[in-house]
Amino acid sequence: MNQDSNSAVYFQCQLCGECCSSWNIPIEAEKAEALLQKSWVQQRLRDTGRHLQRQSADMYRIPLTDENVCVFLGADRRCLVEVNEGLTLKPHECQRFPFATVKAPDGNTIHDTSAACKSVSEKLLLAFQPIQPRPKVPETISPAVSFLPEAMSEIRPEEWLADVQTVPDRVWQTLFRQTDWETLQKLRAGWKDWFQADVGSAEEALCRVRASLTKAGKTPPAQFKASTWRQQALVLYFLRKPYQSFSLFELLHGRTYNDPRVFGEPLPLRDMNKVRWSPEGEALLKAFAYNLLNRNRLLAVGGSVQSLVAMAGVAVGLVRWYAKALAVLQNAEATTQADVSTAIRLVERYYTGHQPRFFQFFQSRFRGWLVLRWLYLF
Ligand code: SF4
Repeated sequence: MNQDSNSAVYFQCQLCGECCSSWNIPIEAEKAEALLQKSWVQQRLRDTGRHLQRQSADMYRIPLTDENVCVFLGADRRCLVEVNEGLTLKPHECQRFPFATVKAPDGNTIHDTSAACKSVSEKLLLAFQPIQPRPKVPETISPAVSFLPEAMSEIRPEEWLADVQTVPDRVWQTLFRQTDWETLQKLRAGWKDWFQADVGSAEEALCRVRASLTKAGKTPPAQFKASTWRQQALVLYFLRKPYQSFSLFELLHGRTYNDPRVFGEPLPLRDMNKVRWSPEGEALLKAFAYNLLNRNRLLAVGGSVQSLVAMAGVAVGLVRWYAKALAVLQNAEATTQADVSTAIRLVERYYTGHQPRFFQFFQSRFRGWLVLRWLYLF
């Protein structure tokens, strides 16, 4: 979110354990090897019949149990690595979730916040404010009030900032044009109304943002139809991406989409068109799109604001697809706000928040420009 604002909302872990499920968390090799020496870890791996899988010279992967959760997730939904070892051996990825921190050109610390977190996707997004780690709470406050996830309260600022990137003074706005940081913050503040408005789709709001980035000014195209065939084509292109397991032919002509990591059962593709999009999820979808537009990590590594808009355009299409898929699996006729919230978490997990391939795709200013042209060329 726009980190210039003083009215941030603070993240508080709900211990739902959802971020510790369904995907194999990477862990640094030295931490994995230190953990393997611990008797409680050896016992845990024996009990679950799992082992830490080496992925490369630097990284291991933590396996999932039969219940599809991290092998180190305790029965009380707390991380056993943190409970038994403190933060030292906890994977880097888990220590910072749901934040990715960068430094603004003025030296301030700012956070991209992943909506793969249930608390963020269900509630915090709708505040339309920067979401930040809760500052360390004075000990005088009652523990009931001051509960903090230990990962957040123990991290010292220098650890948090050890390897963060800095957003340059001038960021790329379009393919060839740069803008300064202050101007970008003003632009972002101006976009907020379009996403908070009760009327209009997420695509319409993005269309206005796209228009505000061009020299033509803030006049959006007269007609914008949400969920166009162009957006659908991009959705199909990216749906094959997470594990490269589906061809476009399968997605267009196949009977089912069978990705057990995402859905517990094969998804009957032909039922997707029967599901109605319910407007009740649109506000959340717009809040998610606005959150994506306020991310800075892409800008810190040379991506453009146009790329952020293109990424948000694809993400909105993917959320619509996943929300409808969830409705199909529940035999529902229309999507609900809960479907949209779950779909946002899936899209963050498999695309916008955690997939390096997706991030790298949009890091290219040219690809960002191309996708935006494809989405809004009418
Ligand atoms: S290592 Fe801990 S925090 Fe990370 S996924 Fe496993 S249980 Fe969750």
